[in-house]
Amino acid sequence: MAKKQFKAESKKLMDMMINSIYTHKEIFLRELISNASDALDKLYFRSLTDDSITLNREDYQIMLSIDKDHRTLTIEDNGCGMTDKELETNLGTIARSGSLDFKTENKSDDVNIIGQFGVGFYSAFMVSDNVVVKSRAYGADQAYAWSSSGVDGYTIEPCFKDDFGTKIIIHIKDDTENENYSDFLEQYTIMSLVKKYSDFIRYPIRMMWETNKLKEGSEDEYEKVTELRTLNSMIPLWKKSKSEIEKEEYNSFYRDQYSDWEEPARVIHTKVEGNATYSALLYIPKRAPFDYYSKNFEKGLQLYSSGVMIMEKCADLLPDYFSFVKGLVDSEDLSLNISREMLQHDRQLKIIATNIEKKIRSELLKMQKDDREAYEEFFSAFGTQLKFGMYDDYGTNKDKLADLVMFTSSNDKKLTTLQEYHDRMKEGQNTIYYACGETADKIDMLPQTELVKEKGYEILYLTENVDEFALQVLASYKDKTFTNISTENLDLDTEEEKDRLKRFNEENSAVLGVMKEALGDRVTAVRFTNRLKTHPVCLVTEGFMSLEMEKVLQQMPGNTGAKAEVIMEINKDHPIAAKLNSLLADPDTLDKYTKILYAQARLIEGLTVDNPTELSNMICELMI
Ligand code: ADP
Ligand code: MG
Repeated sequence: MAKKQFKAESKKLMDMMINSIYTHKEIFLRELISNASDALDKLYFRSLTDDSITLNREDYQIMLSIDKDHRTLTIEDNGCGMTDKELETNLGTIARSGSLDFKTENKSDDVNIIGQFGVGFYSAFMVSDNVVVKSRAYGADQAYAWSSSGVDGYTIEPCFKDDFGTKIIIHIKDDTENENYSDFLEQYTIMSLVKKYSDFIRYPIRMMWETNKLKEGSEDEYEKVTELRTLNSMIPLWKKSKSEIEKEEYNSFYRDQYSDWEEPARVIHTKVEGNATYSALLYIPKRAPFDYYSKNFEKGLQLYSSGVMIMEKCADLLPDYFSFVKGLVDSEDLSLNISREMLQHDRQLKIIATNIEKKIRSELLKMQKDDREAYEEFFSAFGTQLKFGMYDDYGTNKDKLADLVMFTSSNDKKLTTLQEYHDRMKEGQNTIYYACGETADKIDMLPQTELVKEKGYEILYLTENVDEFALQVLASYKDKTFTNISTENLDLDTEEEKDRLKRFNEENSAVLGVMKEALGDRVTAVRFTNRLKTHPVCLVTEGFMSLEMEKVLQQMPGNTGAKAEVIMEINKDHPIAAKLNSLLADPDTLDKYTKILYAQARLIEGLTVDNPTELSNMICELMI
């Protein structure tokens, strides 16, 4: 029989398809199973109006079988089948989809047709050097076999097939140096591919499963037995309505799919129709995976098209600051045959991603409101990521995240949101105070906090490296600026107090001058202050960089030697002030005392001292 040629452009298309549309060869199975599922759907749809079709829904199935000796894998369905003409049009023309036509002609909720592009079938040639499709249309007497070895063309001839439906026999290629095609003849491989891509196909995908079992009556003799197994679980949880799903069902799905041993902190299940039609099942984990804050962590949601998985981790669906979210999106609007590159430009996908981001944000806010304990637990796991999100991309997303972040409050050492702080602000207070340090307890002991607290102001305690950077980028919250209490910007004095301080500094300029000289360029100035209540000394900074930021920047690779501009401040009401003044006549001792005070101030800030031995000797001298 004369071989028919694929149309010229089809040849090129087929070659391109086989070699480039798909990233993974293994998806051929998903494509053939999806086609079988479509064929079952079509027959089922017909049975709804055609009484002569006596099949029950349970009778429909997809059978897989492996013949290692002949190197064949067979995919068989008892669906609508194809006539010789249909074989010709559907499989002889690439990019022609009988399924799309069907979908356009018959609209029904009962069917769930997957195909629409008319290329999936040819993916079989990625792993196969010969494909035979034996098909008998439902109701027809004659079956036909379509057969092809790839780009060369195909033949269609009558054949025998005892029942309706389609049987696709693919001959698996020989192994090459780079590719172990024989793997597709292993039952475990086939089972795991079904689980991975086709678990939620609505018809049973079955296979005769071979196992070794102990022979009856024997203790060490085994025999090969085969049993019929259904490989897929069939029901996509996310397609059920929320009211039908038990909490435990959500949780066990989460544990199985996303390998966590714990329950998720929150489940988000939505179905959206409109601009984009999709279902999403999202989970917020309780704890960060061990590699979460490392480069190895890969964000992304699983992407399904009508219940068939098309991508394991679709990164475009999640912004970095919500990268901890696990779950999946299922949309009929996306086609199976779509590559990563094509997806990036998919308008539909962009709409879905935007919706999902909004949804996650609103769910987190809800959780913050109605389950504070859970939210705080969540925040301790992923708060750092949210704060990085505020800072990243020059603050593009800071406003979306400002209400999600929390800091420790000086009031009760508990976490508070900016909104809550804002609600508690004193009359006339126009800035939000914060202080930085290693832990809340350590910050609480900082001399600078004493007076601010006494004046009745609440302080946010920033303990993570990213914190101050995030607030700097945010710049303000509901018209209130942020002020680091360890900077010269702190402005708590009355005009009268300011005047008095100014005079005091002028009167004592001589002693301050000597002290500044003793410290050289380690500080930009030494001066007396009102900001300390009972403590003698502290360091404050001028300009945008705080001591904390200096610490962080100096630890970073490529450290540019960034330095904060530091001023040493002495409590003007502390006895040390009078003592320093009295030492004007004894410059040697004044020099020593200045260095000791400076070292103390550094230690209080959690900084190291330049010369610990010298410091120790100087203090010892005072003791003897
Ligand atoms: P798509 O599934 O996107 O339509 P395919 O290349 O996968 O494209 O398949 C082409 C067409 O071949 C399908 O639209 C369908 O009409 C037909 N077809 C493929 N497999 C089967 C099958 N098992 N039973 C019946 N028809 C099939
Ligand atoms: Mg298909």
